[in-house]
Amino acid sequence: MKATIPKENLLDYSSRYLRKVFTGFYSLIQGMEITIKYFLNPKTVITQQYPENRDTLEMFERFRGPVSMPHDEKGQNACVACGICEKACPNGSISVLTTKDLSGRKVLGKYVYRMAQCAFCGLCVESCPFDAIVLTRDFELSVYNRNELTWVLNTPQIEQEENAND
Ligand code: SF4
Ligand code: SF4
Repeated sequence: MKATIPKENLLDYSSRYLRKVFTGFYSLIQGMEITIKYFLNPKTVITQQYPENRDTLEMFERFRGPVSMPHDEKGQNACVACGICEKACPNGSISVLTTKDLSGRKVLGKYVYRMAQCAFCGLCVESCPFDAIVLTRDFELSVYNRNELTWVLNTPQIEQEENAND
């Protein structure tokens, strides 16, 4: 015997089918909305194409990277080797090694910074009375050898004086 769909059920089935087609199409448009928006306004795209954009990429202003000691055009830094930053560091990441200059005055010998131990908290920078150190925004910090994570941040004063006398 041939099966027949009651007329009432056929109408229900058709309307349910059309409703599903419509909601499916609507959700597809909703899903494409952001894609279309970014396609039409590429400047608003937040996602960065890293590392292709390495030359132009800058970390945001509040990013905390490793400690650095700025030097002026003569190779001088503002550190007076007081050791306050060394005491302020909770991780023992800094060693301020002093020496004496040619006149016997205590000066900074080596400013040793162990980046692997640094939490980028910035307490050393905040504690420095001479603004001799800063936090950078460097973020590509991977190395193959952990010894490369210990840096001397200053150009030693003795070396500077020797260069000046050359
Ligand atoms: S940023 Fe913090 S953890 Fe790193 S060297 Fe400075 S005080 Fe120490
Ligand atoms: S960086 Fe600043 S706080 Fe640290 S030893 Fe030098 S002058 Fe002192």
